[in-house]
Amino acid sequence: MNKPASVPEQFDAVVVGAGFSGLFMLYQLRQLGLSVRVFDSAGDVGGTWYWNRYPGARCDIPTTDYAYSFDPELEKEWTWSEKYATQPEILDYLRFVTDRYGLRSDIEFSTVVTSARWDEQERRWRIKTGRGMEIECRYYIMATGCLSVPKSPDIEGISRFAGQVYFTSRWPHEGADFTGQRVAVIGTGSSGIQCIPLIARQASQLTVFQRTANFSIPAHNGPASAERLKQLDEDRDGYRHAARWSRGGIPTELTDIMGVTASEAVRRERFEAAWTQGELFGIINVFADQLVNPASNDIVAGMIREKIGSIVKDPATAEALSPKDHYFGTKRPCLDTGYFETFNLPHVRLVDLRKQPIISITEEGIQTADESFGFDAIVYATGFDAMTGPLVAVDVAGRDGVSLKEKWATGPSTYLGLMTAGFPNFFMLTGPGSPSVLSNMAVSIEQHVEWVAGCLKDMREDGFETIEPTELAESGWNSHVQDCAAITLHPTANSWYMGANVPGKPRFFLPYIGGVDAYRKACDEVVERGYLGFSMTGPDGARCRDGVIRRMQPDVALVLNLMTAMGLPPMETLSAADARALLAAIEAARPPGPQVGEVSDGVIPGPAGDLPYRLYRPAGPPEGPRPLVVYFHGGGWVLGNLDSDDPLCRDLCARSGAVVMSVNYRHAPEARFPAAALDAFAAVRWADASAAELGGIPGQLAVAGWSAGGNIAAVACHLARDAGGPHVSGQVLICPVVDSDLTRLSYQENGDGYILTTPLMRWFWDHYADPADRGDHRATPLRGNLPGLPPACIVAADFDPLRDEGVAYARALEAAGVPVRLVRARGHTHTSVPMVGLVISGAPVRAEIAEALRDFFPNAVPQEHLS
Ligand code: NAP
Repeated sequence: MNKPASVPEQFDAVVVGAGFSGLFMLYQLRQLGLSVRVFDSAGDVGGTWYWNRYPGARCDIPTTDYAYSFDPELEKEWTWSEKYATQPEILDYLRFVTDRYGLRSDIEFSTVVTSARWDEQERRWRIKTGRGMEIECRYYIMATGCLSVPKSPDIEGISRFAGQVYFTSRWPHEGADFTGQRVAVIGTGSSGIQCIPLIARQASQLTVFQRTANFSIPAHNGPASAERLKQLDEDRDGYRHAARWSRGGIPTELTDIMGVTASEAVRRERFEAAWTQGELFGIINVFADQLVNPASNDIVAGMIREKIGSIVKDPATAEALSPKDHYFGTKRPCLDTGYFETFNLPHVRLVDLRKQPIISITEEGIQTADESFGFDAIVYATGFDAMTGPLVAVDVAGRDGVSLKEKWATGPSTYLGLMTAGFPNFFMLTGPGSPSVLSNMAVSIEQHVEWVAGCLKDMREDGFETIEPTELAESGWNSHVQDCAAITLHPTANSWYMGANVPGKPRFFLPYIGGVDAYRKACDEVVERGYLGFSMTGPDGARCRDGVIRRMQPDVALVLNLMTAMGLPPMETLSAADARALLAAIEAARPPGPQVGEVSDGVIPGPAGDLPYRLYRPAGPPEGPRPLVVYFHGGGWVLGNLDSDDPLCRDLCARSGAVVMSVNYRHAPEARFPAAALDAFAAVRWADASAAELGGIPGQLAVAGWSAGGNIAAVACHLARDAGGPHVSGQVLICPVVDSDLTRLSYQENGDGYILTTPLMRWFWDHYADPADRGDHRATPLRGNLPGLPPACIVAADFDPLRDEGVAYARALEAAGVPVRLVRARGHTHTSVPMVGLVISGAPVRAEIAEALRDFFPNAVPQEHLS
């Protein structure tokens, strides 16, 4: 097989890795009639299951689901012996698959791929191996797995130890016999937790060095679930289809029960059921909100800690084994068999490295800050340089010689986790930005491989030779991946998901947490839209469909889908009274918003009668008056009242530390233009005059409003300026109506499908103002005289029909010399920013609004006093 370096072997495709993904990739490429060479540094197939031979190594996804599903015949020919199969059995399975499809002949074992360079001239990859081979290929595919490069244990003096050293990730084929030995295990992740109980059976003394206590639940291993086997038996195709379109790659009914609102009995019942079931996808599905809401997460975490306390007899050991420094699920939870029980054995000891860190490995054993330990063997279960490690381990250089390592120096950047710009025809299976490690790998791998194979087939049919993502598509996907993570508790943890286990690695959430189903949908949609976000070239020309596949914030999309599913009638088809009733019904079901110090209601005199107001005083120090914000709710001048924007007012109050006075005003059609605007101005005057009684600081008053409330807040600023007072320190306009032109681009792009529609906006205008009045600056402030207005903070949301008029107002104010802060609510709709407690991704936008408010005031409450 070895050829002189001058005559490179030619293949259509080179695949690196002969594990689950590489084997299936080879199979698929062969189906396409392509010539393929697979390389693996291991001596045989198996990937992760070849290397991780430590005692107790098993899968922690039920084997009924952790297997290929592409061929029903294959499924008939293999029966798993357990719910969670052992490493030898999984390796046997992969060997069986290899032989069944005759894959071995295309695989070169014990061969490391050292470099891969793109030759732009030839449009081919030049591959070199550690054995001196040179190969050229059109497509270069890394099927190198996510957890295949061991992290070098960052512990002083490792080479000094005179005893035996083992790494769980590189376990010797002949095994290890610890009988009668004093053994140390460093690391309590999945690998440590699986091997510790078995090593304890042999060792005369076992000392476990734990840096971070980990959440683990009992696997309750045994025969495969009868219920799953029945489902598979009765309808295999249906079961596999459900897995492919599930959140995690296993058919699971996702709960909608919230931990924070569930009764104690329901909480307990759901937790116990998950504990007894012994499946990871069960324990992460106790409550719908456990990965986004700290309070809900605490409930599950607390119950697991309780279990640990009930299993481990020594209270100090139980306490040390109870995880407290991260939210449950933000570090990979483990499944165990007798892990916590092992610490009840007299010869097993836990050393808490938070209390006595390791100073160094010595010739005899381990030196901690407090003690010297002597050992015969040390087992490192210290983890991996996850996801990016295996990819940058090969010197991959794309166009212009740029290396992957350089490109990813500040964090990985991919499109769909499959490709990266500047590296044509380079595919990654289960790469960063794909669901991979957060899902049932078997399902994700099949999806990836099938997508890549489908792509190569389509390219061939359309006469293209190269494919590569565009920069725009890639940065859009990266944002989406991070947006999805940002609404969860994940970014708070020092996990390998975040790259935090490897010193110096950029902190970046590596996998895609949007779900296997959402991911598959995105990948399919990319293809349906003519390979959106990819450029392709071939002998007959090039094609580029530039664009971003997912621009909306994930939680905004979720709320939108829920609202669509509710099948509500379009508001513009209702009477004003019915529309108000509908809004009130929707509002009744939402979260209440944060606690503030005090809330009180009152009335103020308006131009045509009393106007109700609600006053929100912030909690906490400092005592004394605060700046005052007069707030006007949204609702198209037709809908809304003091309750409708209550959560937003609480949020503004808590975040800004200002007193917020929400004022109700007269509504159309009963009171048409300019009633609302005049009420708003009257309210500002009254608030200014009454600042001291309201707990405000005289002369430090801002206005704020959302939507039509933003309109009258802006108009009040015009009227105050024109009347020579009162002084308004600033104006916050959240997605405001500032013009009546419904033809702007944002109306064309967002006029349908995002709750505030063009017909609804037209309905609002028709209720509020005659067409002849709509040029009046008290209706359309954009058309007014702008110099001399107070500094402004304007929020413009991507998916809002009003986006462009908000931006136009910001630009026009700037041109008129007014200081403006334009806040782009990326991926938001007209209604999502105010959805406090429901749309988590709105929080950073509201934080920016609060910061703008504080900037308006000389006596704003310092940030450190705000909760
Ligand atoms: P891991 O989860 O990263 O755990 C590594 C452990 O070593 C952690 O407890 C870590 O502590 C500790 N550690 C690392 N460096 C250390 C140091 N310098 N000093 C002291 N302690 C140190 O790695 P893993 O257990 O190999 O598991 C990795 C992943 O592989 C799992 O999360 C899972 O996805 C997969 N896996 C799956 C199975 C399965 O059942 N199918 C089995 C094994 C692994 P810190 O937490 O403080 O960093």
